Amino acid sequence: MSRTWNFAAGPAAIPEPVLRQAQAELLEWRDARASVMEISHRGRAFTALAAEIEADLRALAGIPAHYRILFLQGGATLQFALLAMNLARPDQHADYVLTGHWSEKAAREARPYVDVRIAADARESGYTALPSRADWRLHSDAAYVHYTPNETIHGIEFHDVPEVDAVPLVADFSSSILSEPLPVPRFGMIYAGAQKNIGPAGLTLVIVREDLLQRAEKRPMAGILRYAEHAAHESMLNTPNTFGWYLAGLTFKWIALQGGLAAIGERNARKADSLYDAIDGSGGFYTNPVQAAARSRMNVPFFLHDPALEPAFLRESEQAGLLALKGHRALGGLRASLYNAMPQEGVDALVAFMRDFQQRHG
Ligand SMILES: *Cc1c(COP(=O)(O)O)cnc(C)c1O
Repeated sequence: MSRTWNFAAGPAAIPEPVLRQAQAELLEWRDARASVMEISHRGRAFTALAAEIEADLRALAGIPAHYRILFLQGGATLQFALLAMNLARPDQHADYVLTGHWSEKAAREARPYVDVRIAADARESGYTALPSRADWRLHSDAAYVHYTPNETIHGIEFHDVPEVDAVPLVADFSSSILSEPLPVPRFGMIYAGAQKNIGPAGLTLVIVREDLLQRAEKRPMAGILRYAEHAAHESMLNTPNTFGWYLAGLTFKWIALQGGLAAIGERNARKADSLYDAIDGSGGFYTNPVQAAARSRMNVPFFLHDPALEPAFLRESEQAGLLALKGHRALGGLRASLYNAMPQEGVDALVAFMRDFQQRHG
């Protein structure tokens, strides 16, 4: 057995230097004389680590002081509900932009808590194109506008932050956070499950503008559901996912070492370009259905001209050391996820395999 190029969509590859550091200090972390997993989250060592991680993330992504950063649990899926409960009063409505599986689910999970209005819907395109901003039906009295910058399953991505005037923009960045510069001041709230670009599953990052925390004051709900409570207790209202938090911190330091978000963004763009070039240059042997302007840099679904070749493609690619290329069950076909931890060499190896496979089966 050996580690190999891992194209999994999530949980996804973690940078090897991060895993190696975690391995090296697994039994004894700093001077704790115990693992970072085995110490109190309320003790001096861990609270200092949490503060260090927050400072690193603020510096990395340029997060202004009037945004609170929360390290929660429950995944992006819990946030689908919590953000509605926290950012809207019960009598308010919210505008949702549907661009694929995850934005649909975000709208569905919010419905019990807020009047969801669909501002735009790309379903007719089979989610292969983004709905033109000019056609969005936004309401100036909406509690917020929700969208999904990168649709992990359909492989479509916004390459600009949509302009929504004064209504807070809420974004599910689960599959593209920290993959390029993040213009935080354009958003009311950003959230992301950690298991694609930040670290292991079980940790969820929420970045929320401080003034929005008061909106849920009158809604009856338990403290554990309130962003304001989590913020007031530095994400330690109850026992947090300390090991996930620690690994996220190592990943933030690793991204900074790579040159920060601008440098990693350029690298990610090059990686995606080389894979799309290979698909488009295959004479139809491989296809990607997404409109060029909406193609995701992070998740590249693709199809073989002859679907009967799929089992052979998956078997042979795995033998060639290319892992987890099976497409999502909702879409079929194949998918390569190219998060931060995937280097250009991994994409080059995939492209070389694809050429070779086509020569043998084309
Ligand atoms: C993976 C993913 C989710 C689901 O995340 P969980 O952590 O499993 O709840 C939601 N939204 C997007 C865009 C995703 O990629």
